Amino acid sequence: MARSATRKQGAPVSSVDSIIRSDPGASCAPELAQGPWTFDLGTPGYGPGASMGDVIPTGSPRQGQLPVEYQQASNEELHERIRVAKATLGERVVVLGHFYQRDEVIQHADFVGDSFQLANAAQTVPDAEAIVFCGVHFMAETADILAQPGQSVILPNLAAGCSMADMADSDSVEECWEQLDELYGTEPDAEGRMPVIPVTYMNSSAALKAFCGRHGGIVCTSSNASTVLEWAFERGQRVLFFPDQHLGRNTAKAMGVSLEQMPMWNPYKPLGGNTADELDRARVILWHGFCSVHKRFSVDQVEKARADFPGVRVIVHPECPMAVVDAADEAGSTDYIRKAVAAATEPTTFAIGTEVNMVNRLAAEFPQHTIFCLDPVVCPCSTMYRIHPGYLAWVLEGLVAGDVINRITVPDAIANEARVALERMLASKPGV
Ligand code: SF4
Repeated sequence: MARSATRKQGAPVSSVDSIIRSDPGASCAPELAQGPWTFDLGTPGYGPGASMGDVIPTGSPRQGQLPVEYQQASNEELHERIRVAKATLGERVVVLGHFYQRDEVIQHADFVGDSFQLANAAQTVPDAEAIVFCGVHFMAETADILAQPGQSVILPNLAAGCSMADMADSDSVEECWEQLDELYGTEPDAEGRMPVIPVTYMNSSAALKAFCGRHGGIVCTSSNASTVLEWAFERGQRVLFFPDQHLGRNTAKAMGVSLEQMPMWNPYKPLGGNTADELDRARVILWHGFCSVHKRFSVDQVEKARADFPGVRVIVHPECPMAVVDAADEAGSTDYIRKAVAAATEPTTFAIGTEVNMVNRLAAEFPQHTIFCLDPVVCPCSTMYRIHPGYLAWVLEGLVAGDVINRITVPDAIANEARVALERMLASKPGV
């Protein structure tokens, strides 16, 4: 099977959508070639894509039926309707597109970036009445927390959740915290360090960011995870890190924490499946969460890339398993990966371990390099893939008609506490 983003120098790079539509068998799920509205109603999982095996938790927002006119419109018609609606709305609307979003949506975005860059970008347009976030649910929540009063944040498809974020729900984390309180007590040691500091990855619900704000904890991104862990170790004897075990493990390991000091917390077992002794020795307690997209990358893929392309530079995202990060040349956030490719002055072959839409776009943007996704199967993030131009046209035309569709609102009490944890992150490294 051809690597999705491999192409000869100078040859055009097709979008992931067009690759999937022209050859559904090249993808991890032929159903990806259908419109995402097919999966909005009654599908138990997230739909086809890398996270198709993950089940949407009860109570997660569900998308109702997309009006048929948007399902049946051609891409050309949808693009034209989006352009007209955006032009009519002018500066009243800003459209944000995550790096992992499909090209057919990205072409309409005013800003493209990672989740935190986009939430910050939205703050540069305080006069926009509506922020249309073409990403996933936790990203829209963060944008709402940071938005100006009166601004509405819209998620074009409510079924665009994040399976990793959903792996740590508030009830399970509260239960874990109670057990840790009982085990460690709640008093600081002689040096003033608390028994545990909670650290949540940006990829988590607003409720968990608020939990961290309430309990002396902090938020991190994949760009600043080590700075944030240092901040936490100054204030605590150990860290409870959720939801992504891989980011936690890769970051702490690089800081010299041994694997024995990083027990995993399984929310379905007493003490997370650990003994009291193991938890006593812990420096970082890792939540049992992962990203289904980044979990697909393997050491075999790294070795194959090295065999096929001697001299290849392998860069992977720290949400990949530890063995893959260890086998790669470099690991870093989406922003790191982008900058690394942009900074290469000589024609270089890059094998990238992150979501295929972003890798494909890098290949198109930097034709002087050979850039391909480590995973030879075209398998986008299925939750991000729920945003299709049909949904974008629907919410934008809704705004033109005076209707705010799919608004994401974080209640004030949660937003205030979550903001505390976000501000601690900014103070731990200004300008992240
Ligand atoms: S790529 Fe992974 S972490 Fe990012 S939105 Fe998709 S499932 Fe969530």
